[in-house]
Amino acid sequence: MLAVANVARRGTGFGAPTPVEIDLAETVVDAFSSIEKVRLVTSGTEAVMTAIRIARAATGRSRIIKFNGCYHGHSDGLLVRAGSGAATFAVPDSAGVPTAISECTSVVEYNDLEGFAAALGADPPAAAVVIEPIAANMGVVPPQPSFLEGLIRHAHDAGALVIFDEVISGFRVARGGAQELYGLAADLTCLGKIIGGGLPVAAVGGRAELMDLLAPLGPVYQAGTLAGNPIACTAGRETIRLLGDDAYRALEERGAALESGLLDAIREAGKKACVQRVGSLLTVFFGIESARDFLEASAADTESFGRFFRAMIDEGINLPPSQYEAWFLSLAHGEADIEAIVEAARRSLRSLDS
Ligand SMILES: *Cc1c(COP(=O)(O)O)cnc(C)c1O
Repeated sequence: MLAVANVARRGTGFGAPTPVEIDLAETVVDAFSSIEKVRLVTSGTEAVMTAIRIARAATGRSRIIKFNGCYHGHSDGLLVRAGSGAATFAVPDSAGVPTAISECTSVVEYNDLEGFAAALGADPPAAAVVIEPIAANMGVVPPQPSFLEGLIRHAHDAGALVIFDEVISGFRVARGGAQELYGLAADLTCLGKIIGGGLPVAAVGGRAELMDLLAPLGPVYQAGTLAGNPIACTAGRETIRLLGDDAYRALEERGAALESGLLDAIREAGKKACVQRVGSLLTVFFGIESARDFLEASAADTESFGRFFRAMIDEGINLPPSQYEAWFLSLAHGEADIEAIVEAARRSLRSLDS
C-alpha cells in the first residue's frame, strides 16, 4: 500500500513506459521459462484477445479451439460455453455476439484429448487452442495426467499454437504457474489477477518471434492508454516480491489442511460431496464424486451448495457465491483461519438436513 501511495504522488500515468513497468515485465520473464517477451495490458480479457490475434497472425488461420466451462474474459469470440458467470445464471452464451464471430470458435470437453484431436482435424485448420491449464471457472477441475502434454503435442503436429490462460494459475500454483508445476511450455501465456496485486494489470507473453509480431515492431495492432501504468505495476511488483518458495510451500500446506478438514466434515455429516484442489485453489462440489469436465461439474447439486453457502455466511465465512467458482486461499489465511473455516463447514454441513 505504501509503495503504491508513494508512486501515485509522482504521477498516475504518463502514456509512456516507466521503470516499474520494465521491472514487472522482467519479473514475468524471469518467472516463466516459456516467456521471452511480454506486453502489459489492463485486463485478462485483453491479454487473451491479444494472444489470439497474435496466433491468428502467426498462422494465417482464423479458427480457435476452447474448452467447455473455461472462461477467457468477455471478448466476443470467447463468450462461448464460458463457465462460472454464465453457468450460474444458466445463460449459455451472451446476447450481442454475432454468429459470424462465434462460428470461429470450436468447443471441446475439458480433459477429452480424443475430442480435441477430432476438433483439430476439422476444417478450417485451427490457429490456436486456448485453455485454462487448471480449469477454475467451472469450479476447480484439474487436468488429468498427460492431458496437457498430449494437447500441446497434437496442436503442434497440426500447426496450431497453444495459449495457456494462466490468469488464475499464474503466480498462484507456483511462481511460473501451471507451466512450472507440470513442467510444460505454452507458445503464448496470459496472466492477470495476481500480477496486478489488486490493481488492473494483465499480460501476454511468449517466444520473441511471436511477440515481435505486435505493433510497433510487427503488423498486429495492440495498444492501451493505461496499460503498464506505474500505480498498478507497483502493486504487482510489490505483491510478487512476497512470493518466494516459502509462500508456495505455505499455500500448499494450508490448501491441503483445508481439503482434508473439509473431507472429514463431509464424511462426518454423511453428505455426498467431493473436494477438488490444486495448491491454494479449491472447490467443494456437492452431490457428485468428481468432475473431470463441465458436463460432470454441471451435475453438481447447486441447491445444496446454496444452502451451504448461506449457512457459512451465517457463520461469518463469505465463500464465492457459486458452485462454479473456486475458493482462493491467500497468504493472509493463517492456520487458525483454516481451522475456523473447517469448524464452520462442519456445523453448516450438519445443518443442511434441518
Ligand atoms: C478472470 C479471468 C479472465 C479475465 O480477466 P479480466 O481481468 O476479468 O478481464 C480471463 N481468463 C481467466 C482464466 C480468468 O479467470
